[in-house]
Amino acid sequence: MAAVTLLVAAAAYPLIERAAGPAVLAARDVLDTSPRPSGSTGQAGGDIPGGTAAPDDDLPAITRLDPALRAAVRQAADDADTADIDFWITSGWRSPAYQQKLYDDAVRNKGAAEARRTVADAETSQHVSGEAVDIGPTEGAYWLIQHGTDYGLCQVYANEIWHFELLTRPGGTCPPMREDAEG
Ligand SMILES: [Zn+2]
Repeated sequence: MAAVTLLVAAAAYPLIERAAGPAVLAARDVLDTSPRPSGSTGQAGGDIPGGTAAPDDDLPAITRLDPALRAAVRQAADDADTADIDFWITSGWRSPAYQQKLYDDAVRNKGAAEARRTVADAETSQHVSGEAVDIGPTEGAYWLIQHGTDYGLCQVYANEIWHFELLTRPGGTCPPMREDAEG
């Protein structure tokens, strides 16, 4: 009976999103990089050549971010640099096609059920609307987890240490973190 209920619940879920692995993970157990497609859809679609970018880079992944988010990340990047912390953007704005490719790759590699919890589809991803950034490397992500509220930047999902959105005012309080997109 429980299995049937689960199946129904899974089928009813829109094809959202994220969480890698079990719902609750110690931060150190989490993958330290955001997902990238196995094949590039090109810079015009939001790919970042080499996998890292700075807030001032002239790439669609950066220039198509929400301007307020971009400004907040720029300020954070400057301060991280001053603190001698490695800090860069690994993913920003993504075209719907790019996001769909991430999702399709996840289905291929992990199966549909896991894909639903690990990658947002093109309709639900905050990356597609330019309202999310992924930060790397691990050092930079942890720094922003500690200091993000100074800029209004919040970690959204407990199982994505790299994913940040502008969800409060500088000095404000972030909304309660979700375990993953399904929690
Ligand atoms: Zn993200």
